[in-house]
Amino acid sequence: MLEVNGDRLLRDLRDLARLGATEEGGVSRPAFSPVDVEGRQWFRRRVEASGLELRGDGAGNLSAVLACDDPAAPTLLAGSHLDTVPDGGRFDGSLGVLAALEALRVLKEREIALSVHLEAISFTDEEGTLLGEIGSKALAGCLEVEDLESARGGATALAEGMARLGITPETALATARPAGSLAGYVELHIEQGTRLEEAGLQIGAVTGIVGIRSGRLHFQGVAGHGGTLPMDRRKDALWAASEFLGRARRKVVEEFAPGVMNCGALHVRPSAFNVVPGQATLSLEMRHGSEEILDAMEEALLQLAHEAAADLGVEVIFEAAERCPAAPSSERVVRMIEDSADALGLGHTRLLSFAGHDAQVLAPITPTAMIFVPCVDGISHTPKELCRPEDVVNGANVLLHTLLRLAAPVVA
Ligand SMILES: [Zn+2]
Repeated sequence: MLEVNGDRLLRDLRDLARLGATEEGGVSRPAFSPVDVEGRQWFRRRVEASGLELRGDGAGNLSAVLACDDPAAPTLLAGSHLDTVPDGGRFDGSLGVLAALEALRVLKEREIALSVHLEAISFTDEEGTLLGEIGSKALAGCLEVEDLESARGGATALAEGMARLGITPETALATARPAGSLAGYVELHIEQGTRLEEAGLQIGAVTGIVGIRSGRLHFQGVAGHGGTLPMDRRKDALWAASEFLGRARRKVVEEFAPGVMNCGALHVRPSAFNVVPGQATLSLEMRHGSEEILDAMEEALLQLAHEAAADLGVEVIFEAAERCPAAPSSERVVRMIEDSADALGLGHTRLLSFAGHDAQVLAPITPTAMIFVPCVDGISHTPKELCRPEDVVNGANVLLHTLLRLAAPVVA
């Protein structure tokens, strides 16, 4: 059975991890930084050494291409990102790009004829140093001028960073691939959780990336003397907010698993030892793989907020913030991942991704799915991030065979 060259892939991962290496054993290679530029140059040299075609686009995405005989054939993409969060790990992103490169090298060496072009791609700034997923959004044609102007790192920093990569806002906006030119996208990534490890399984077939609903709950009560006001006369906004939190947690656990909610910020006013809180604002975030269930979850939690507020004699209003739709994987590609894992004798399960990835940007325009492999203790985005060598190689082999199934080799 066809397999990747595991030693070569592991060596590549080690070599790349030297660029931006931190004392704690991690990697700091934020997008657009000088060391990101070094990482890109290293990737270029690896592509050139492989004899694959090197390609770049107006959004700074870098690719290795294995073209098939038919110039009009669609392109099957595999990849991830070479950038990291500050003080991040060695595998988040790099694994998917280098495994894709390795899969293409093996197919080139074996001279396997395919009916599609194969492209191993590294997307620009997945982690959002300046503008998250800018590379995949540009390729998918959903990057807007407003995105560039409201970049979280600032429009000026973005323009300067882009200049370092030899691109501009204009070239990024003109990067979209023509409709129908893509045959699919497969991304190998560490799980960044412990579900595979705990189940003793090697491969996760990702059925989708969760959608996110977020907003703020403003509980409005009445401030008053923290000592003289009798307990039963208080309209305490924080009591209502905390009552909501307890009820909401139970509701999500009992009725919306595997969905999750998070209240990560709380602002109380006037915020003093001896004053009853008149106002409490909670940040609320909900994640689930199904838009329908997210609708139900949002409705149920808002209902609970109103009930908690009414019980404590205060008012509540919800101010919606960012929303990101759920991105279901292609069932066909998920099955190919499962079939590939079966053929390789690897244990697998279906999983949802609760973190964002470039795959969620590609999913609406081309058949997409992700392959997860375990990372030790689920640790990610820190120097301790570790994907065991056998998991690196297992993941790359499943990627290779999923690509082969999607590419449907030409029968001579
Ligand atoms: Zn990643």
